[in-house]
Amino acid sequence: METTLRGVGVSHGVAIGEVRRMGTAVLEPPTGRIPAQDAERERGRARQAVDAVAADLTTRGGLAGGDAQAVLEAQAMMAQDPELMADVERRVAGGVAAARAVYDAFASYRELLAGAGEYLAGRVADLDDVRDRIVARLMGVPMPGLPDSDKPYVLVARDLAPADTALLDPSLVLGFVTEEGGPTSHSAILARALGVPAVVALPDAATLAEGAVIAVDGGTGDVFVDPAEETKERLAAADAERRAAVAGSAGPGSTADGYLVPLLANVGGPTDVAAAVEAGAEGVGLFRTEFLFLDDSEHAPSEEKQAEAYRQVLEAFPEGRVVVRVLDAGADKPLAFLTPGDEPNPALGVRGLRSLIGHPEILRTQLAALARAAEGLSVRLEVMAPMVADRADARAFAQACRAAGLRAKVGAMVEIPSAALRARSVLREVEFLSLGTNDLAQYTFAADRQVGAVSRFQDPWQPALLDLVALSAEAARDGGGSCGVCGEAAADPLLACVLTGLGVTSLSMGSASIPYVRAALARYTLAQCERAAAAARAADSAEEARAAARAVLSGK
Ligand code: PEP
Ligand code: MG
Repeated sequence: METTLRGVGVSHGVAIGEVRRMGTAVLEPPTGRIPAQDAERERGRARQAVDAVAADLTTRGGLAGGDAQAVLEAQAMMAQDPELMADVERRVAGGVAAARAVYDAFASYRELLAGAGEYLAGRVADLDDVRDRIVARLMGVPMPGLPDSDKPYVLVARDLAPADTALLDPSLVLGFVTEEGGPTSHSAILARALGVPAVVALPDAATLAEGAVIAVDGGTGDVFVDPAEETKERLAAADAERRAAVAGSAGPGSTADGYLVPLLANVGGPTDVAAAVEAGAEGVGLFRTEFLFLDDSEHAPSEEKQAEAYRQVLEAFPEGRVVVRVLDAGADKPLAFLTPGDEPNPALGVRGLRSLIGHPEILRTQLAALARAAEGLSVRLEVMAPMVADRADARAFAQACRAAGLRAKVGAMVEIPSAALRARSVLREVEFLSLGTNDLAQYTFAADRQVGAVSRFQDPWQPALLDLVALSAEAARDGGGSCGVCGEAAADPLLACVLTGLGVTSLSMGSASIPYVRAALARYTLAQCERAAAAARAADSAEEARAAARAVLSGK
């Protein structure tokens, strides 16, 4: 029978498919003794789990082919290493349960590998993966990490970290459902980047069973478990209508009376560029460079490697603008070589520009890579710093850019209320502002953007947030600079009109949202957008602000 759950819809569209759950980190199996008569059974279970994992790895290797096959087959051999198995059996015979025996036997093997020269030490992560697979099987919990599936599925997770999502195969993921997260969490951002429907902050996500069929409506936030045929048909028809509404939208972003508002794309690297070009993005308004840094937890990528990735993005927009944000590490995007591990409150600690000021060599390398990537290209390169708090921060960043000999406009992201309140002072050091409304909401409302329970504060229609947007846009206009929005607020078509009315000069969003925002802007004049903005700011809550803007724009 159909049941309905309600979360927060963060990426439009409808996905219907089977649930595949993201496994959580494998727990350390409990210590404790087993009765002697259970030893034989536990030994059999251990052997069975090892054989099943090895067979699975070999099958997946055969399907993957190439380098991946070699890695997976090497893992299968690790699983079946006779000495390792003998160690497991010895431990079981000594009264240890199978899962714990595997865990401990792998730990001593791991130590050997870690100390045995660079090549073998590099295999430790593969060994850990094999151990986790065997232990998960023995404990009856899902495998940690992304599900193994060759059929498309709806991914259900507690939350998704950028490191997990970097490995996603977009051709297999029909949509996302997460228990945690809000409209600005990275799972929501990723879903919009991939153009797949997503619902976050769904308290009952834990009850969605592996293999159950669900229908996800990323607009309303409804998740139908075991959906009836009529429900599926109704959702599919509404989705088709929505797509048809934007099918004809093309060209530069503009209001009905021709006021130009460039529509730019948010990208995480070269692989996002094709979708941006296809959506008609007029450039890139936010290049989140930290995704390039997630591959290796120990080191920053070399100048050459960075330059190569930057160049691929820059070359895609010969006549456009590309705004590159320098590395934004820390808090929800920790990097082992940069982020202190012992901060009591990482979101309020050393993150963003603060990390780079503490590690100037990393910023220098990144700026040098950007200068090198832009050589000989006609693209308008702009660089900006995340988490600028005040004029001193802006000055430090501008100086670093000058010292690197970068020929690019230099800007500051407004993500901390202090930067919005003192935007005029920040603009004495940099040429443009870009509003990161995700973090700006987080810091304005003291509401962690990753915590589902406070997701209502991440609603970018909050009048307090709109006030800070207006302050920044006014400061930029008076000082002759520009002020864009690159947070998720820009991806909401109605809010995009309000932001334009508040004086924002460009809007940057996940590529999949561009056609919707373009179509909405084209319906209204600048004066209508300004009236809608004033009505929204006069409201006392996000809901009232949304309703007030809608009433103005629909002429009611
Ligand atoms: C923001 O905070 O609004 C932003 C654009 O940066 P990120 O989401 O990457 O923190
Ligand atoms: Mg941010």
